Formats: sequence, structure tokens, C-alpha cells
Amino acid sequence: MDKYDVIVIGAGTSGSVAARFAASTGLNVCLIDAQKREKVGNKICGDVVLSTIFDFLKINHPKGEEIMSTKNNIKLYTSDFQDYLSIDMPIYLVNRLSFGQRLLNDALDSGDVQFLDNTKVMDLIYKNGTVNGVIVNTNIERKKVLSAKIVIDGSGAHSIIRKKIKSDIIENKVPEDDLSICYRENIEFNDNNQPDLPTDSLTVVFDADNVPGGYFWYFPKSETISNLGLGVFFRRRREVKHIYQKFVLNKFVPARNYKILSSGGDIVPIRRPLPSCADNGIMFIGDAACHVNNASGGGIHPGMKAGYYAAMIAKKAIDAEDCTLNQLWKYNSLILDDFGIGHAANDVARILMQNTTTEDFNYIVRKKLLDNEALTNMYYAKIYSPSLKEKTQKLLKGISKPHLLLKLNYLLKQMKRVLKLYSKFPNNLKDFQKWREAENDMFNEIYLRARP
Ligand SMILES: Cc1cc2nc3c(=O)[nH]c(=O)nc-3n(C[C@H](O)[C@H](O)[C@H](O)COP(=O)(O)OP(=O)(O)OC[C@H]3O[C@@H](n4cnc5c(N)ncnc54)[C@H](O)[C@@H]3O)c2cc1C
Repeated sequence: MDKYDVIVIGAGTSGSVAARFAASTGLNVCLIDAQKREKVGNKICGDVVLSTIFDFLKINHPKGEEIMSTKNNIKLYTSDFQDYLSIDMPIYLVNRLSFGQRLLNDALDSGDVQFLDNTKVMDLIYKNGTVNGVIVNTNIERKKVLSAKIVIDGSGAHSIIRKKIKSDIIENKVPEDDLSICYRENIEFNDNNQPDLPTDSLTVVFDADNVPGGYFWYFPKSETISNLGLGVFFRRRREVKHIYQKFVLNKFVPARNYKILSSGGDIVPIRRPLPSCADNGIMFIGDAACHVNNASGGGIHPGMKAGYYAAMIAKKAIDAEDCTLNQLWKYNSLILDDFGIGHAANDVARILMQNTTTEDFNYIVRKKLLDNEALTNMYYAKIYSPSLKEKTQKLLKGISKPHLLLKLNYLLKQMKRVLKLYSKFPNNLKDFQKWREAENDMFNEIYLRARP
């Protein structure tokens, strides 16, 4: 049987970073991906990567063919384009395949890493109740066992392992209400035939009446190529392409000369992180752990951070010769302290926003009930908790729509409640089940209240 210190499942952005940092601490790593090596990175995506992640990880920024363009600003528009909120943040619009290939190559150059491509992880193996390896299906062997002291699952939103794991603390199923379905096309326009949309920033438009449960985007990647897409409620998944064509493509790109370079859709988990992202011998990172920023829909940045944290915790646990949850529990705190608590508080806003009409949203932006600073905080996974004075002023400005005032007030109260509960996240397994039940009850209540 092949034996490793760490097996990383998935060579996406999260998994490649986990493998790189685990190997750079001297661990021996097996990185596995179901795709052929040359296809790794070819992910359906809006292709936006926040520049700050490269400084955080102290790794090279994208360069050369990885970069299609850079922007410094995102604008969130009302559906009539009369008003907008503006977020300043440095952004790369990447060639997703080149970017993914670079992260993979960096991982393979970082130390003792064996890469198995074209190899699908089918299940976990356990020893004394602790995960200690995986069963893979290669193009040669249908059931090969690989063992490891620690498994890191970065296999994305469809993770088979999360669905199959025998665990009392990992959620096997993510509720449908916590999933979005996103669809996008990379479109090449002929000269002088660009849509009439801004090219100096990223455009995001909230129009819940036509794009239910999400928003649509226009990301100009070069002089001629743009990424146009949208996200909607998962329950509307069968209509996603129709909604895209009717309310986005045909509206902004009416019968013009253009070429669709690529198209496709996929699931995005847009909730707070899994209550626990670790169990005995295993940690979950990226989409497999629901680490996507639920305000922006961006999952690359938090997933790369999670890959780094999981690698650091793996090194500590292996050095301590204890790969049980005892040692891995700290991974949960690192995630929560960095972005998890922010995503949890923002989940209240996400749930309420998904159930806000176009008219009400336009009013919120026009009256500045939500402002640039609040939205910037949400995009950076920080906590939006305006002072009582600000809150009162905002309430007074909104006096003509009492149901919105009630909603805003409810939002602020529930965010406070979430923060209180998350500040008491248990530092051991003993108190976890009770905490998890309270968390679950709280979000069920918020969902009930949010639905029309
Ligand atoms: C339409 C759309 C637009 C998006 N736009 C953006 C954006 O602009 N910016 C942003 O930050 N985020 C965006 N996201 C979200 C982002 O793409 C994900 O959050 C991010 O890719 C998650 O990275 P990951 O490494 O966790 O998973 P993935 O990128 O999904 O990588 C998982 C890897 O695991 C492999 N794998 C899966 N199952 C197995 C298995 N059983 N065995 C072995 N290997 C396996 C896959 O082949 C894949 O390489 C978008 C998502 C969609 C759908």
C-alpha cells in the first residue's frame, strides 16, 4: 500500500495551495485530481481573483498569460442603472486555465509531492475510527488504496467524500437553500460591438424580480473578451440558462456579431462554513467546506486561505504524532477567526437579500440604507455592525417603507445574535453538538422569517 503524510483530494485553487504549503514544511504529499493534468484549472468561473490573496500567502502574483486584465473597483448597480454602490479592491481577471496550471506547477515544485491525475477518489478508509487514507479509481486499477496520516478534501462543491464520510460532526448534505447555481459565458465581441456597459470596473446588477436569488455580472477581461454570467436560487437550476438568455444576454447583447468562447454552469455553496470543517484524520477546504464568500460569490480567495491553514495544522498534528480531532480542531478556529465569522454574520444578509424585491433593493441603495463601506466590509468578509447612531439615522431615512425598516432592524438584531453565538464556538468537541443545534435552530428561524 502507498503511504503518505498527507493526501490532498483535488488540485483546484484550494487543493493546490494545501499541497504546496504541506510539502514546503517537509511533509510528503500525494495530490490527486480526477482530471488530466493539462485540464486542471479549466473551471467554470467568473475569473475574478482578489490581489490580496497573493500578499497573504506570500506567493507570486499572476503574471504573463495568467492575467487578462486588472481592475480596482466593483460596482453593484440597481436594475435601472440609476444608482450603484462602489467597492474599491484590487482584482485580477485571469485566464483560468493558465492560473490553475501555475498553482498546480508551484505545488509540484514545492517539495516531495506525487501528483496522480486522471484519478478519482471514491471513498475513505478508516483505522480505529480515524480517516487514514482513500480508495481511488485510476485508469489502471478500479480500487486502489492509498494511506495517509491526514486527508485534506479540496474536491469542490460536489465532494463525494463529504457525502460519504462516516462522521457525527461533518454535514453530509448541504441544504438546497444554501446553494446557488451560476452560469457564465466568455464572449468575444467584434470591434465596436461591445455591450453598452462600463469597462473600467466590474459590473454586478441586483435584479431579484428577473434573476431570482442572485445577481448578474459583466466582467470585461480584455478589449474584446468579457465574462457574462449570473447566479440564481438552486431550486431554479433548470431555468438558469433561459433566465440568462432572456434577462442578461438578449438585454445587453442584442443580436450583434459575437462569438461564445465557452459556456457552462455549476453549483456554488453560498452559506457560512460547515459547522466543523474537520474530523479525525481529515480536513475540508474550499467549496467542499462551503468557504465561498456569501456576499460576493467568490470562493477562490477563502479556499486558498483554507488550503494554507489546513497545511499548517497538518504539519503540527503530524509532528505531534496525533492526527485526531484533538489536534485538528484548531483548524476550525483559524477558519472562523479569518473569514468564517464574517461569512456567518453575512449569511443573515444573504438570506434576507435573496428574498428582497428589485424595487426594495433599488430603494435601499438610493437611500443609502446599505452603503459603500458596509458592502466593502461584506466583500472582505468583515463584520458589518453599524453603531446605534448610524443605525437610527438609516432607519429615519427609510421611514416611507416600514416593512423595510423592520427588515433592516431584524437583520441587525440577527447579525448580533449570530456574532454572539459564534464568539462562543466551543474549543472542544464536548460542547460542539449543543452549539451546532443552537446554530442550526437560529438559521432555520431566519430562513422562515425571510421567505415571502
Ligand atoms: C459560474 C461560476 C462563476 C464563479 N466566479 C468566481 C469568481 O469570479 N471568483 C471567485 O473567487 N470564485 C468564483 N466562483 C467560485 C469558485 O469557482 C470556487 O469557489 C472555487 O473554484 C473553489 O475552489 P476549490 O479548489 O475548492 O474547488 P474546485 O475549483 O471545484 O476544484 C476541485 C478539484 O477537485 C477535483 N475533483 C473533484 N472530485 C474529485 C474526486 N472525487 N477525486 C479527485 N479529484 C476530484 C476536480 O477535478 C477539481 O480540479 C464561481 C463559480 C461558478 C460556478
